[in-house]
Amino acid sequence: MAPSPVVERSCPICGSRTCEHVMELPDHQGTEVFGLSRCVACDGLFLNPAPPAEAMARYYETFAGPTMHNPGHPVFDWLRGVAIRRELSPLLKRLADAAVIADVGAGDGQVVSFLHQQGRACLACETFPEVEWRLKEIPYCQIDLNGPLTTMLPAEGAILRHVLEHVHEPARVLAWLRRSGVRYLFVVVPNASSPFARLFGQYWAHWDPPRHLTFFTPESLRLVAERNGYREVAMCDHGIDEFVTSLYRARMIRWMRQDHGPSARSPWWNVLLHPKSLPAAISSALWAPLASTALCRLFELSGDAAFEG
Ligand SMILES: [Zn+2]
Repeated sequence: MAPSPVVERSCPICGSRTCEHVMELPDHQGTEVFGLSRCVACDGLFLNPAPPAEAMARYYETFAGPTMHNPGHPVFDWLRGVAIRRELSPLLKRLADAAVIADVGAGDGQVVSFLHQQGRACLACETFPEVEWRLKEIPYCQIDLNGPLTTMLPAEGAILRHVLEHVHEPARVLAWLRRSGVRYLFVVVPNASSPFARLFGQYWAHWDPPRHLTFFTPESLRLVAERNGYREVAMCDHGIDEFVTSLYRARMIRWMRQDHGPSARSPWWNVLLHPKSLPAAISSALWAPLASTALCRLFELSGDAAFEG
C-alpha cells in the first residue's frame, strides 16, 4: 500500500507553527513512519507531519482493526465497566438526571448503556450512520469531529473518552462544545508524561501513530481546555496497561518490517497480546491504583476563552 500524503501541522494546543522534532514513530499496524514534534511555545507534543483528516480511514482498517471493534475478553469488559462507573461519578453528581449527557465517540455503546441503566438522559455520538447504531433505545447523532461542526450539540454534559487524541484539531472540538453551551466536559486521554513513555521510547503503546495525533500531558490538556473556555474542576487519573500493549506494539513493528505478502495471517501473539486481551486486562488492573497512564479530568464551562473558535 502506497503511503498517504502527509501535511505539516501547527501545534494543536496553542496554534504555534514553531516546533522541534523529537523522534520517529513507526505505525505498528503498517509500514509508515511519522514524526513526533514538540511545540517550542507550549511544550505540546503532536504527530507532525501527519496524514490529512480525509486520508485517515485506511489507518483504522488494518487487520488489527476488527480486533479493536469486537468485544474484548470478558475480564477486560468487566474492568472497563468498573472504571467507567468510578470515572463518571464527578460528572454525574453535578448534573440532574434529566440533563442530557452526550457520549462523543460512543464506540460500542458501553458508556451510554451504563448511563441509560442509571436513568440518565443520554445521547450517543459517533462517525458512522445511524442505521449502524445497535442500541435503538438510546438516541443517536452522527458527528464527524474533523468535519464542519455547524450543528450544536444538544447536551449539558459531554464525555470524550479516548477521543481528543484522535482528532486533528482538538481545540476546534472544544470550541464547538463551548459554542453549544455544554457545561461539563469529562475527558480521558493517554498521559504522554507517563514515566513509561520515556522507558519504552518509540515503542510506548499510546503513541499509536497516526491514529493518535496529539499527546497530552496534564499541563497541555489543561491549557487547551482553558484557551477554549473550560476550567479543570476534578481529576481521577488512573493506570491502564502500558506493558503488554507496548510489547505488542514492539512486536508488531518488527513483524510489519518483514515481507509477509498481502495475504498474511495475523501472528499468534496478536491474540495473546492485543490491547483487549486477558494479559492486558490483568496488567491494567494491577496498575490502576498506582500509575497515571490515563488523564481523567472534568472541566466546567468558564466562559473565558482566549480565542473565538
Ligand atoms: Zn503549542
